[in-house]
Amino acid sequence: MATKEQMAEAVARIRANMADAARAAGRDPADILLCAACKTRTVEEVRESAALDIDLFGENHVQELVEKTDAGAYLGKPGHFIGHLQTNKVNKVVGRAAMIESVDSLHLLDKVEAAAARLGIVQDILIEINIGAEASKSGVSPEGLWALADAAEAAGHLRLRGLMAIPPADASPDETRAFFARMRRLLTELQDRRYATARPDTLSMGMSGDYESAIREGATIVRIGTAIYGARDYSKKP
Ligand SMILES: *Cc1c(COP(=O)(O)O)cnc(C)c1O
Repeated sequence: MATKEQMAEAVARIRANMADAARAAGRDPADILLCAACKTRTVEEVRESAALDIDLFGENHVQELVEKTDAGAYLGKPGHFIGHLQTNKVNKVVGRAAMIESVDSLHLLDKVEAAAARLGIVQDILIEINIGAEASKSGVSPEGLWALADAAEAAGHLRLRGLMAIPPADASPDETRAFFARMRRLLTELQDRRYATARPDTLSMGMSGDYESAIREGATIVRIGTAIYGARDYSKKP
């Protein structure tokens, strides 16, 4: 478990790297949000990190999102859902997550819409793209994006904010950068559709090992876990 001092140093270093990458790409560092990907981290660890220069938190597991939001661990900062969402758990996430970044099927989209309608809210979502066409990964194919985007626009209680992706873990830095560039082109295509209610301004991509590359290619949210909190320990479930 990382100490408060270690986390503070790590976040300062990441922020400096983010700003350098932004400026190198002619971008304003203020346009890029730091999401702390805090799966497996305890409420205490997350609460300590929330006092640092982190914009929002990303959870992969519904149980952890519920536990940490109930405990106020984010200190009022937004929590995003970034993991694979099972349809039977949608009710626990809609309204609780400021954004669901991992919508990747029409079935899931319909369930999120129904839950948001029941609550009488508009839920912000991203569509997750399986940019590396990996059999093992969730996410919709780039070709499948448009059916989901049309469905989100037609739904009354969803606001499509953009796209999310996780490139293949075994890709080279050059390949990863090409995947990020393809994501940027998909976001531009989405923006060019000029939907009436969608506001596709968000591109969530880049993790501990590749966030600078993602920023050079247009990321507006980077999701960073290990570089903030240290290596994950999956032996003890939080
Ligand atoms: C775990 C996770 C991250 C962060 O990964 P690190 O390599 O630890 O920075 C980002 N996004 C998603 C969807 C994750 O599951």
